[in-house]
Amino acid sequence: MKMYDVTGAVYEGMTVYKNKPEKQPRINPVTNGYVTESRIELDVHTGTHVDAPLHMVTDGATFESISLEKLVGTCKVLDLTHVQDRIGRADLEAFEIGAGDFLLFKTRNSWEEAFDFEFVFLAKDGAEYLANLGVRGVGTDALGIERSQEGHPTHKTLFASEIIIIEGLRLKEVPQGEYLMVAAPLKLMGTDAAPARVLLLDGVTIS
Ligand SMILES: [Zn+2]
Repeated sequence: MKMYDVTGAVYEGMTVYKNKPEKQPRINPVTNGYVTESRIELDVHTGTHVDAPLHMVTDGATFESISLEKLVGTCKVLDLTHVQDRIGRADLEAFEIGAGDFLLFKTRNSWEEAFDFEFVFLAKDGAEYLANLGVRGVGTDALGIERSQEGHPTHKTLFASEIIIIEGLRLKEVPQGEYLMVAAPLKLMGTDAAPARVLLLDGVTIS
């Protein structure tokens, strides 16, 4: 079995969305004698994380509505490294995609260490195509599943079809193919997202 940890590291000074200082994590080690207990201040969209509908939908469902069953299972890594700007329907039609698939988009984003304001994203028509196919979830190697689309139609289309969104994956080392994905977000209650550890296991299948 080969294991890929496709999680971004969390630390002060890490890459955050649009380089906004208020999105930086704060880690305060509090030491009393020989005992250290750190406090962290974290945006729930820090690094690798799973979004909940509340993020983009007024009164939308909160994080605990996403069942772990949907986050552990087979996934397909799609090589989209040739895409320069956005992943559209035509890009996705090149792959065999079916109902229930969980798709991870490997793009040039995985090679970017600094925040790229022109990151590759899932376009509205791509999201509509996947919603019609009935996929279970999508994961991107950008810190957002979309950018520069008025009204956030990609997020809204995916949430309306109960498609899970994972953002901030690191897929540089992972070849295109099928894996067993274990996406384990923090068990936060009432929030619009949760940071997650995401592992891809090669050579393991579950029934
Ligand atoms: Zn997010």
